[in-house]
Amino acid sequence: MTKRIIIAGSGFAGLWAAISAQRAITLADQESDIEVLMVSPSPHLAIRPRLYEQSLENMNPDLSPLLNAIGVKHIAGIVEYIDENKQEVQIKESDGKNTIIAYDRFILATGSTAFLPNIPGLFQYAFNVSDLAGAKELEQHLKGLAQKPFSTARNTVVVVGGGLTGIETVTEMPERLRNILGSNDNLRIVLIDSSKEIGNAMGNTAATVVQEAFTEMGIEGKANVVVTALDSSGVTLSNGEKIESDTIIWTAGMRAHPLTAQISGEKDHLGRVLGDSFLHAPAAKNIFVTGDTVKAATDEHGNFTVMSCQHALSLGRVAGHNAAAELVGLPSHAYSQPKYVTCLDLGAWGALFTEGWDRQVRIVRDEAKKVKQEINTVWIYPPAPDREAAFAIANPDYIIVQ
Ligand SMILES: Cc1cc2nc3c(=O)[nH]c(=O)nc-3n(C[C@H](O)[C@H](O)[C@H](O)COP(=O)(O)OP(=O)(O)OC[C@H]3O[C@@H](n4cnc5c(N)ncnc54)[C@H](O)[C@@H]3O)c2cc1C
Repeated sequence: MTKRIIIAGSGFAGLWAAISAQRAITLADQESDIEVLMVSPSPHLAIRPRLYEQSLENMNPDLSPLLNAIGVKHIAGIVEYIDENKQEVQIKESDGKNTIIAYDRFILATGSTAFLPNIPGLFQYAFNVSDLAGAKELEQHLKGLAQKPFSTARNTVVVVGGGLTGIETVTEMPERLRNILGSNDNLRIVLIDSSKEIGNAMGNTAATVVQEAFTEMGIEGKANVVVTALDSSGVTLSNGEKIESDTIIWTAGMRAHPLTAQISGEKDHLGRVLGDSFLHAPAAKNIFVTGDTVKAATDEHGNFTVMSCQHALSLGRVAGHNAAAELVGLPSHAYSQPKYVTCLDLGAWGALFTEGWDRQVRIVRDEAKKVKQEINTVWIYPPAPDREAAFAIANPDYIIVQ
């Protein structure tokens, strides 16, 4: 091997960057000259978009057979330090060993993490569904409620944050809690949001649908308030109200992975590197940024990527292709993803499917739920460990949503 592409992260962007890079290298017949090396804590894909669901089965598929089939190497560990000048990364391997490895191209695909502001009691008392460990901890806690005697706090779940994750988490709760506590009585499910009305994150028309679902499922939405403190008995709100609850789930805000701070150049308010149209980090030589670590233009009308699986799947393909293309002499591909949709799970009520950045409501309830289930159980999962089949859908202009 004479050259190396290192990809940090085995999430949606990292996985598709690896397949796409290896595809381009194969097209140029240069497999014996260029190595694609993925670094992440384990060769698994955490299915983050499903972590609000009641069952956590099959949320972490093993990528090893696929990586072997396409010839991508994996190191179990985390990238701790990026040396842009020397073109090296320092890796802490899972067995504790520190390794320094040089790259010809580096792709940052380390995703995002929950943003926890400095609110008293937040670290100590809030659960999250941002990563698999957090979702498992919540699952154990909820199951454990069945062993506790009845109390208002036991039967009350508070979800903080009215973005898409908060809405999906809270609308899952009535059925989830009923299944655990075995009763419909005296359950209280509350969503707290700082915006002026519930569902605001989805735009006016879609907000009406979200509110209808809340009313039908008996979910209380409290808009225009923020959480000021958490303690062992519940949450206190900015209007002075106190809600007794054993279960507070924090979904209010994400930030790009802290490694973005080591990459030269401008960042946005979420810590994402402002990428160019080829997904270079423009101020850092031979570094690409992808998935939740990049802010990139999706079209020529002023729209930009959001932290989403929808964008990560395409961003990954483009970054991987371009990193390899530059090394093998193929044309680079400009990132563009003009079509934007959202499919919001609304628990037992169904789902809401919208099109466009203004979120025009297209389908609702059971019809939309079928689309959500298709997305969540098929579209976002890794392909079978078949080299040709994986390469066939790894081209940088492959579109998942037509
Ligand atoms: C509950 C929930 C619901 C969501 N619903 C939707 C939805 O409906 N639709 C949608 O489009 N999006 C949704 N999202 C967002 C979506 O999951 C993320 O935008 C997506 O996972 C980002 O992909 P990524 O590859 O950039 O990062 P990730 O999927 O976060 O992957 C990051 C990878 O980097 C690895 N890593 C971390 N640190 C290091 C390090 N130092 N070195 C090496 N590797 C490292 C991680 O282990 C992981 O493999 C949801 C997210 C959540 C939490």
